[in-house]
Amino acid sequence: MVSGPMISPYSESLLVHFRRMESLKEEAIKFPSVDLNKRQLCDLELLLNRAFYPLDGYLNQEDHESVLDTMRLTDGTVWPMPVCLDVDEDFAATLRPGLRVAVRDKEGFMLAVLEVGDVWRADKEREAQAVFGTADAEKHPGVRRFYEQVKPWYVGGKLEGLHLPQHYDFPELRMMPSETHRLFSRRGWRNVIGFHTEGHLHRAHKEMILRAAREAGAGIFIQPVVGRPGLDDMDHFTLVRCCREFVKKFPKNMAMVGLITMAARLAGPREALWQAIVRRNFGCTHFMVADDHADPLAVNGTEDSFYPKGRAQELVLEFADEIDIKPVSVKRMVYVEDKAQYIPEDEVRPGMAVKSITPEELRRRLEFDLEIPRWFSFPEVTAELRKAYPPRHRQGFTIFLSGLSGAGKSTLAKVLQVKFMEMRDRPVTLLDGDIVRKNLSSELTYTKEHRNLNITRIGFVASEITKNRGIAICAPIAPYEESRRVNRELIGAYGGYVEVYMSTPIEVCEQRDRKGIYAKARAGMMKGVTGVDDPYVPPSNPELTLDTTNLSPTEAAQEVLLYLGEQGYMK
Ligand code: ADP
Repeated sequence: MVSGPMISPYSESLLVHFRRMESLKEEAIKFPSVDLNKRQLCDLELLLNRAFYPLDGYLNQEDHESVLDTMRLTDGTVWPMPVCLDVDEDFAATLRPGLRVAVRDKEGFMLAVLEVGDVWRADKEREAQAVFGTADAEKHPGVRRFYEQVKPWYVGGKLEGLHLPQHYDFPELRMMPSETHRLFSRRGWRNVIGFHTEGHLHRAHKEMILRAAREAGAGIFIQPVVGRPGLDDMDHFTLVRCCREFVKKFPKNMAMVGLITMAARLAGPREALWQAIVRRNFGCTHFMVADDHADPLAVNGTEDSFYPKGRAQELVLEFADEIDIKPVSVKRMVYVEDKAQYIPEDEVRPGMAVKSITPEELRRRLEFDLEIPRWFSFPEVTAELRKAYPPRHRQGFTIFLSGLSGAGKSTLAKVLQVKFMEMRDRPVTLLDGDIVRKNLSSELTYTKEHRNLNITRIGFVASEITKNRGIAICAPIAPYEESRRVNRELIGAYGGYVEVYMSTPIEVCEQRDRKGIYAKARAGMMKGVTGVDDPYVPPSNPELTLDTTNLSPTEAAQEVLLYLGEQGYMK
């Protein structure tokens, strides 16, 4: 029996023949296993289907370093992005070169076998500096995510695939590079423009893409990014459904949709180059690059950007010959009312009245049930968006009260609960600090780690309630910003999130001392009391701040209700 990977470097995929699969499955009983998270599954899928050609597995250390320093593999091939398997230290300690590992999805289904090459501790700062251009997590959300979510050890090595990660949605749109390649030639497309999108596409995008395609004499391959880990402000079902409507708006045989499971790094120019290589592997000859492509700050079409504007386009152009795909610059289009037409932003003359709607404005109009004009988008796309984003008064929301013990959280929470129940328009759940500690987190202590864990558990429950359009009222102390931020991001993706900082000063809380904990703490009978000998970090950006020293419970509740009314969550 031959052991070791049996895949030629030129294979269409890293999936093995079914006979080999059978023997691997038998052997795998003895292999250690690693379960991949969503982000890692995205990488694995693109390795197995060869969107990451020429990689035939995870980068080993030498290649990894060479990628960081030179954007090339050790053999000189252009490859700008590290793709390693990140694991915990304990697991890494069990690995040796040559050992084989069963790579599984979250359900334990075996997707591939990894023959371990190098195993090493990641030098995250160095990597961040090379890939993102900064090691500062405060300044760069991609760096922050990299530090927080990528595990500390790396494993390199070759892969033999058994199955692609399983997806049950949109099977007809999930094509491997070898398939898209054939589909393009069947359609008679000699040139193909690839378009990578994580956002919804409207008329301006159509005009922009169509113009570029005509100039290049190319068909259009639109790839919405799906399966993204982390925090989407829209679910991918909507994204794909909108894309499907969108391509119907092009002339016949000009545009096609295919999904891509690419885990974004937000590395700006490097990421643009990486995406371009991946599009070449799908069979594209051209790739649309924005002047702020994959920029961590330029999301939602804002003017800010972390990387210099246009740098992404320059970088792809520098490598265009070598990577064999041409960049096409994205030209922003604006609507000129007098002409009833879109024109590129840079062709606007003084005196022309132009119109556009930013993503924030679109979001606002959906949230407040306002008109979305036909010049802006297609009615079919708008209808999909309206289904996915009901107006605020039909969304769920979470009221998250944070503050010292005795600040008045439980009291306010109870008043709000009664008020919401009286209104009867949404189901209400109260997640009070003490009750949660009893039912959801009884085994947790009061260390920083456990306090954060307690808060993210509450956040998870609240996010489910909010997603299903109910009201969650949470009243824990929540002394740390990290876990509050996690909750805000998680819950905010599904509905309203109102953080209320109960800023009642410690002297007042101590005077009230309903539970007697301050007295105990001062007498040295109790340790780890927040505000006495344990920290409380005030929220940096709460929606509301309420000091109940001179505010009755009803008055405090009224402040919250007024805010909800103003924000459109209550009619
Ligand atoms: P927490 O849940 O933040 O620990 P509680 O809601 O249990 O705080 O309130 C602690 C004490 O303060 C209770 O005795 C309560 O009656 C009193 N209290 C709460 N809110 C107010 C308020 N707005 N005005 C005056 N006293 C209050």
